[in-house]
Amino acid sequence: MHPFSYTKVSTTGEAVVAGQRGGRFVAGGTTLVDLMRETVERPGALVDIGTLPLRDITGTANGGLRIGALVRMADAATDRGVRGTYPVISEALELSASAQLRNMATIGGNIMQRTRCTYFRDVTANCNKRAPGSGCAALRGFNRGHAILGGSDQCVATHPSDVAVAFAALEATVHLLGPDGERRVPFADFLLRPGASPDREQALRRGELITAVEIPAHPRPLRSGYLKVRDRQSYEFALTSAAVALHVQGGVIRTAKVAAGGVGTVPWKLPAVERHLQGKRPSPALWAEAAQRAAEDARPLEHNGFKVELLKRTVERQLRIVGGAQ
Ligand code: SF4
Repeated sequence: MHPFSYTKVSTTGEAVVAGQRGGRFVAGGTTLVDLMRETVERPGALVDIGTLPLRDITGTANGGLRIGALVRMADAATDRGVRGTYPVISEALELSASAQLRNMATIGGNIMQRTRCTYFRDVTANCNKRAPGSGCAALRGFNRGHAILGGSDQCVATHPSDVAVAFAALEATVHLLGPDGERRVPFADFLLRPGASPDREQALRRGELITAVEIPAHPRPLRSGYLKVRDRQSYEFALTSAAVALHVQGGVIRTAKVAAGGVGTVPWKLPAVERHLQGKRPSPALWAEAAQRAAEDARPLEHNGFKVELLKRTVERQLRIVGGAQ
């Protein structure tokens, strides 16, 4: 085991100072501790933020929802406000990991979790994300689970979070606290595509702490849901997934929010699908036409060409489930 120091902080200010000194934040520990055991991560200092007062779920003044960064996944999934207003979030959380992990893992940790690429977790393999400049074993290796959207010649790993797909669809905002105070980052800008530096995964500055994720108000009624397609029905990551939220009024789709998971290097917003739906009347033909646009930019690898069709079918099926008009 690599030696490391452990500090428990009791205020967000202390956390930021410790983070600025290079400490790694840990709360539920469900990802970081695993990676430390496997020596994929070797932090010199752990900063335990688990008891900070970031555990509330509150409504915002404009009708949105603010989920504290340390809310447990299980608690967020069953929260009446979350389930009642944004079932897509509850469903994404309930389809994630195992009950034991959901009881420990936090919302902030969930969106910070690292890829499940097997080469990333195998310290003998070349991996630009783990060891910048070493190469990418997945590009010519077994890449069945990898990304068909957003990859680069440096990395094609998918982002593993389910709830992040729901946050992307709903155009959430990440609240941060750092040495220079508070700031807010649109979810679409928070998780970074690999580009030339796959080791840099979030738009975080040194010492910054996630304090909350805010979901903006959407027109109501808003029907929403999450569909996850995977190799087995529990404790498995998505091959493809779809988060869909629709506001239908007077028989016309006024607002459509759609994102996909399991296919992108980050949760993948689908604006072409959204545009195709807006202003139209729900129908089976419309769902099929819109879903065709889900994979327009896809670049499959040697072993994951099946994801192109699977993505379109996943989106179509979830549009049907949420939008009706079977
Ligand atoms: Fe590493 Fe990314 Fe390549 Fe996987 S896909 S081996 S995480 S560089």
